[in-house]
Amino acid sequence: MTVTLAIDGGKPAREKMLVFGAPNFGEDEIAEVVDTIKSGWVGTGPKTKKFEDEFAAYVGAKYAIALNSCTAGLHLSMVVLGIGPGDEVIVPSLTFGATANVVEHVGARPVFVDIDPATLCIDPKQIEKAITPRTKAIIPVHYGGMPCAMDRIREIADAHHLAVVEDAAHATGTIYQGRKIGMFSPLTNFSFYANKNLSTAEGGMVTTDDPAIEEKLRVYHLHGLSRDAWKRYHTKAFSVSEVVVPGYKYNMTDLQASLGLHQLRKQEQFIARREELAAFYDEAFSAMNGLIRTQFRPHDGQSRHVLHLYVLMLNLARLKVGRNQVISALLAENIGAALHYQPLHMQPYYRDTYGYQPDDFPVARCVGESVLSLPLVPQMAQQDVQDVVDAVEKVLTEYKV
Ligand SMILES: *Cc1c(COP(=O)(O)O)cnc(C)c1O
Repeated sequence: MTVTLAIDGGKPAREKMLVFGAPNFGEDEIAEVVDTIKSGWVGTGPKTKKFEDEFAAYVGAKYAIALNSCTAGLHLSMVVLGIGPGDEVIVPSLTFGATANVVEHVGARPVFVDIDPATLCIDPKQIEKAITPRTKAIIPVHYGGMPCAMDRIREIADAHHLAVVEDAAHATGTIYQGRKIGMFSPLTNFSFYANKNLSTAEGGMVTTDDPAIEEKLRVYHLHGLSRDAWKRYHTKAFSVSEVVVPGYKYNMTDLQASLGLHQLRKQEQFIARREELAAFYDEAFSAMNGLIRTQFRPHDGQSRHVLHLYVLMLNLARLKVGRNQVISALLAENIGAALHYQPLHMQPYYRDTYGYQPDDFPVARCVGESVLSLPLVPQMAQQDVQDVVDAVEKVLTEYKV
């Protein structure tokens, strides 16, 4: 029997599109949003405060400041550290544009380094080689929900007096050597974008243990005012709020926090379900032709990958086509496959501005050409993961050399 791929006019592996990273909102979130609307206070207010408190407790940080995105948090991190023109910030090449863009926003230079092929996170050995007298900070990215080697990164940062600003966009609930991400650095930034493990449609959180940094973040995140709006409106005593620095408009609203509160309370359940589904994928892909690896996980017994991404690495030597064609074929089969990421040093702005060559970071280049991400969300049914496995097998079989 010959099988025709959907991309070539055949019948798709499933009838309905399995959307990549579909958010998981339930009745609790809906009721909370309605309650917020009816309360008459939809801006930053009591629910945002509650979400901050519960989030700080969940990750084990002293302070959490809710924002309208993770990108805002990364940018504020640069601002409160005083990073600016002439400074350099070390960033892995295999990440989302925002990680490096925020460095440009303050007039500094992102300096890319390669990743560790075992974790797909920043390679500590490469960090050391990239340090110059201008280096001010390192932004490790917990790729896909995998914890970076925070012990090594901490040591290097301490030895060279560098700040660590974590891009924990994928890492709500990630554990490194027994401690949650959010407990390691002066500034850790989480994303609650639509497709992240914890979603508020758009949103982010920055955590810190340092009261001086907390104070600066509070001021800068809302117009540079000496007191934030909610405090101003919820106290009977009149007081004038003054602009003390030219701040930003990065606050979260109570509508978003309404989603976040319930998403947070369900995180452990969501992660457990992701683990179940990923175990099924692991088993199904372990012997499949055309794949190199599927499991990028910590092996120390005290760390936890939260499986924001489930990544397949293709064995391109065994395939007639490139990775982009495999993604296109999966999309035609109604499987929402995605790419994380095209390395930043190969993207037009960074390539042309700093003259990077593709092979400057060979691991990132090779990974960037061979990985794809599969749908993995807690609400997926057994049939959904089976459909994904069947579609991957169908496509890889058709494209094998
Ligand atoms: C999603 C994401 C961001 C940006 O998050 P937003 O909340 O959309 O601003 C930053 N870094 C990484 C690695 C991401 O995946």
